[in-house]
Formats: sequence, structure tokens, C-alpha cells
Amino acid sequence: MRTTLIVGNWKMNKTASEASTFVHELTRQLPALSSVEVVVAPPFTAIASAHMALGEASPIQLGAQNLFWEDHGAYTGEISAPMLRNLGCRYVILGHSERRTHFGEQDDEICKKIRAALAHELRPILCVGESLTQRESEETELVLTQQLQGSLSGITSQDLEAIAIAYEPVWAIGTGKAATPHQAVAAHRAIRAFLTSAWSPATANATRILYGGSVTTQNVEGILKSEEIDGALIGGACLQINHFVTIVRVAQSIIT
Ligand code: PEP
Repeated sequence: MRTTLIVGNWKMNKTASEASTFVHELTRQLPALSSVEVVVAPPFTAIASAHMALGEASPIQLGAQNLFWEDHGAYTGEISAPMLRNLGCRYVILGHSERRTHFGEQDDEICKKIRAALAHELRPILCVGESLTQRESEETELVLTQQLQGSLSGITSQDLEAIAIAYEPVWAIGTGKAATPHQAVAAHRAIRAFLTSAWSPATANATRILYGGSVTTQNVEGILKSEEIDGALIGGACLQINHFVTIVRVAQSIIT
């Protein structure tokens, strides 16, 4: 049984004090969670204040949006896995399409980041997804397979079970045009088929695959209803408390 995972990717939004206010309110509205895991991923500068605001008892977990693969050293502007662990992070989003597009991240670098995360008990959320041109050229499956192959090279079955994969079609991110449940399910099946052939059916069965791309309070139910879809990575809709809380409640209602 794969526990549903709902992740809020704040991207470059909210100051440390805004994060504190937001997280206090989130904790007030979601004092307990049943059957779902919830993660918020603030920008680096707001992680410490979000951690303080969550306190020890909150069921909501903290994630980061990126890391660098070395633990420390002369890497100006970078943040390492031990630094994130020390701030209370349990998860880290890696390979987001915005990092691939704006910062030129390649699969081999993402792979090094995944290994660094795992070495410090941070659970990676690996993002993969095709562009519109690739979808229109019927290359979706090929692109997903190549991204997975490159980013997960040398990863063991045991490691893979700590990783969640987020299928995020680039054309759906921030556009208001979510994939249909049918499109998402087809991509999730392709991802699970790749995991089955590269690792094993048991590993593929244990690995969570999330959908991300214009998830809203309106479409989340249709997306999460499918057994293939183990959760959602939310961008825009996670920045408003009432939307994010509604999404979490919908996720809970589907499971319970
Ligand atoms: C994202 O950036 O991971 C994302 C899914 O964004 P949005 O929900 O805004 O499409």
C-alpha cells in the first residue's frame, strides 16, 4: 500500500515571516492527518522559520526545492543535504523542469543530487516530464524513460523505495492546462513499467508516483481517484492556504 503524498512547492515565493504565518495557519487547519503525508517545500530562506512554526508535533513535513551534491566546500551560493537535514527537512524536490530549463540541470547532475540526498536521509522527489513538442511528436514515453535512466543510474531497489517520482508534463506546469486523468495514468503506467523492467515488479509497486501540473481544488479529485496516481505535487495552488487545505482534505476523503 502506497501512502498518498501531497507536496506544496512554493517555488520562489514567501519571505521567512510570511512562511511562518502561513505554516502556523496550516498547522491550525490540519492539526492531524489521516492516510496522507503532507510536505511543504519553501525556498531555502524560509525553511528555518517554517520549521519553527511547524513545531515538534505537526504532522506536516518539510522539504527543500533543490540541493547541491557536495556536503560542504567552496561552492558559492549552494546548499547541501546536511544543511537541509539540520533545518528539519525530510524531503527534497530534484530535477524540477524549471531547474532543467532555467539552470540547465542535466540528468547526471540530478543523479548526483539524488545520491547526496539519500546519503543524508532526505527523500528525493524526482521530477520528470515531457515538453509539448515532445508530446506532440509522441516521444513522451521515450523522454520519461531517458530522464529516469539518467537520473536514477546506479540507484538500488532499496534506495528507490525512498524516492517518489513526480510526473510533471512541462506543458501543464503553471499553465492552467492540467493533464487529463487519462493522460496522467498513461504516463504513470509507462513510468511504472520502466521501474519494473529496470528494477523489479516489487520495487515498481512500492514506489510512489505523483502527478504535478496545474492541480487545483477543482481537478484534484479526478486526478487522485486513479490507483496509479499516488499523490500530487502542487505549485500555484499551494500558495493559498484554503486551496492547499482543500486539496489535502480531498486526498484524505478519497482514501478513507
Ligand atoms: C510545479 O511547479 O511543480 C507545479 C506543479 O506547478 P503548478 O501546480 O503551478 O502547475
